[in-house]
Amino acid sequence: MTNNGNEKTIYDVIIIGGGPAGLCAAMYSGRGMLNALLIERGLTGGELLNTELIEDYPGFESILGRELAEKMTDHAKIFGANIVTDTVESIEKDDDGEFDVRTQLGKTYHAPAVILTAGGSPNKLGIPGEAEYAGRGVSYCAVCDGAFFKGDTIAVVGGGDAALEEATYLTRYAEKVYLIHRRAAFRGSALLQERAFNHPKIEVIRNKVVDVIEGGPSGTTGIKLTDTVSGETSDLAVTGVFIFVGFTPNSGLIKGHFDHDASGYVVTDWNMMTSIQGLFAAGDLRVQLTRQITTAVGDATTAAIAVEKYLAERKEVKAAVGSA
Ligand SMILES: Cc1cc2nc3c(=O)[nH]c(=O)nc-3n(C[C@H](O)[C@H](O)[C@H](O)COP(=O)(O)OP(=O)(O)OC[C@H]3O[C@@H](n4cnc5c(N)ncnc54)[C@H](O)[C@@H]3O)c2cc1C
Repeated sequence: MTNNGNEKTIYDVIIIGGGPAGLCAAMYSGRGMLNALLIERGLTGGELLNTELIEDYPGFESILGRELAEKMTDHAKIFGANIVTDTVESIEKDDDGEFDVRTQLGKTYHAPAVILTAGGSPNKLGIPGEAEYAGRGVSYCAVCDGAFFKGDTIAVVGGGDAALEEATYLTRYAEKVYLIHRRAAFRGSALLQERAFNHPKIEVIRNKVVDVIEGGPSGTTGIKLTDTVSGETSDLAVTGVFIFVGFTPNSGLIKGHFDHDASGYVVTDWNMMTSIQGLFAAGDLRVQLTRQITTAVGDATTAAIAVEKYLAERKEVKAAVGSA
């Protein structure tokens, strides 16, 4: 089974990405007695490692992101998860109908099924203070972090559906929400615009870009803005900055045509199978309503169990063909 160089290493299923979805898929695959390999480019845990406190994962009223990451990793290992550290560069279907997964370290792993759980990343503004205050006022997830801003004045940056929807959502917690867009016209749907623009707690700021996020030892304290029309600069005192300027799913690893939406999110059927037979997707990179830890592990559970059934059916078909 194990080999080096150009030889292939063969598994029942290869899981790409060791975030909540990947770790959950590895746990279920182990329980299903599959010979599974999980490939993670960094430390296991995915976005959990960028999250200070999690307060919405059932069973844990409050848990540190890195602690939950450790628990999920240990749990997967108890059921025999085989985890390697490497970066996947491509997933390609072979002539034999199975998959070659090629990595940065020059390995090729082979399996009849692959579960892609490589997540994605929220697009960044790329401005001073953004990285420094990430998790200390700067956030890319309203559902995850909104409750930390009860009674505060905060800013939401963006002009699409996500910015409009999340600005409205954040009014549950914040006393005031500045909705800042670099253009005059918002891209989001008319209904979401109407809801946000008519909300008494939301003040819309058009034609302004955020240049700097400022703060101190206790976190974010304000932002500096420039008017894109007049060039005038201004300051706003805020304790939170929620940035919704897009999300890039890591779906580019798939070579060949697959169904996806306009932003590159992977479309699956209800078994988490993509339009490529044998290739499953789970978690943040999948087209869906919301992206949470609970949805990632839910997807992964379905995907791992669907893989078991898929492999069993393949075996039956092969046996039937062989005895014909
Ligand atoms: C700041 C922040 C706070 C959040 N807070 C919460 C919260 O409080 N509650 C909640 O429910 N959700 C929260 N979320 C959302 C939650 O973290 C995600 O929905 C969840 O992590 C998705 O899991 P995933 O496994 O699909 O993807 P990810 O967690 O993104 O994991 C993907 C993994 O794939 C790996 N990977 C990517 N490309 C490759 C490659 N080419 N080769 C090998 N490995 C690769 C990555 O390194 C990563 O480890 C938060 C998100 C962020 C960004």
